[in-house]
Amino acid sequence: GHPVYRDMPTTIFEHMSARARETGAINLGQGFPEGPGPRAVLQAAAEALLTKSSQYPPMAGLPELRSAIADHYARHQQCDLSPQEVIVTSGATEAIAASLLALVKPGDEVLMLAPLYDAYLPLVERVGGVAKVVTLTPPDWRVTREALSAAITPRTRILLMNNPVNPTGIVLRAAELALLADLCVAHDLIAICDEVWEQTVYDGIPHRPLIAFPGMRDRTVKIGSAGKIFSVTGWKVGWMCAAPPIATLLARAHQFLTFTTPPGLQWAVAEGLAYPDAWFSEQRAAYQASRDRLAAGLAAAGYVVQPSAATWFLSIDLPASGIALDDVAFCNRIIDEAGVAAIPISAFYPADPVTHLVRLCFSKTNQTLDQAIARLSAFR
Ligand code: GLN
Repeated sequence: GHPVYRDMPTTIFEHMSARARETGAINLGQGFPEGPGPRAVLQAAAEALLTKSSQYPPMAGLPELRSAIADHYARHQQCDLSPQEVIVTSGATEAIAASLLALVKPGDEVLMLAPLYDAYLPLVERVGGVAKVVTLTPPDWRVTREALSAAITPRTRILLMNNPVNPTGIVLRAAELALLADLCVAHDLIAICDEVWEQTVYDGIPHRPLIAFPGMRDRTVKIGSAGKIFSVTGWKVGWMCAAPPIATLLARAHQFLTFTTPPGLQWAVAEGLAYPDAWFSEQRAAYQASRDRLAAGLAAAGYVVQPSAATWFLSIDLPASGIALDDVAFCNRIIDEAGVAAIPISAFYPADPVTHLVRLCFSKTNQTLDQAIARLSAFR
């Protein structure tokens, strides 16, 4: 039968964070920025809590936030969404769950790419979907027509994907996105596109939303996260955007999951999304500098680092670094012996995992990064 919740493991992120709390290790595992978050955003939330209603806001979100999200996407990604096409959720994880609940019927096949974010598979299975996972190959993780076509059947209904990609830090190329769009149109699939890393793309690379590709406007759910954009992961403010026929279904799922999201935080996010472009490029530049600092420090310590074009993560390649441990063994060793928590990439696979890569989170202060580098250097 059907998988049930009691069979599910605790997520690798909670597991490693709990171990980091117990052992006092530097936590480069779960992805979250160090510190309280940007002052202006926190101030906006404090102000809103003191001056605005804390009672239930409208189910689909504050109109002001829905407009701010649509405007933000028009300005940053040339998307033409209307506020009615935006539904505010309690984090992107809720948006993923609501999308699957709304759109998957038992027996529908859901196409996914591995490595895949750890919430996808348990949710797909719990709503009765049948996972069809296409495994990508390092170091390029290229998406090819052959592999995807082989996985699509007449029962395939949904493509569930992430771009930029956690954990690899890959940004899908325009041609790969065009191919995915092409397949969605040809096979009449709805794409649920988790774009929570859209504002953390480095080296001048643009973020290309799948919804903007030909034929995708009316068949894409675009998911975003204020936690990622504003470095406040605990706020759990996210959203899902889709054309009205799909948005109506999404709203029905959302109403029985969380119904609404704290209004003070919604006001603050609405204000933040309207910040000038320079604010977002400064954030990006700061994260890019942190990425480069951790990469350079690890390289100087003899680790081989996989390039990361986006997200808050980079990976180290164990065998290339001369380390004869698999990713889980290495993570267990460094948390106890070096005092650094990390995430094994094998946690992002339902089967046949890649076991030679370890993910490290770089959205930390220079001091923390330097300390982690020193510890990992001494561990060698
Ligand atoms: N997205 C975060 C990560 O990849 C984890 C979020 C969570 O723990 N739910 O580290």
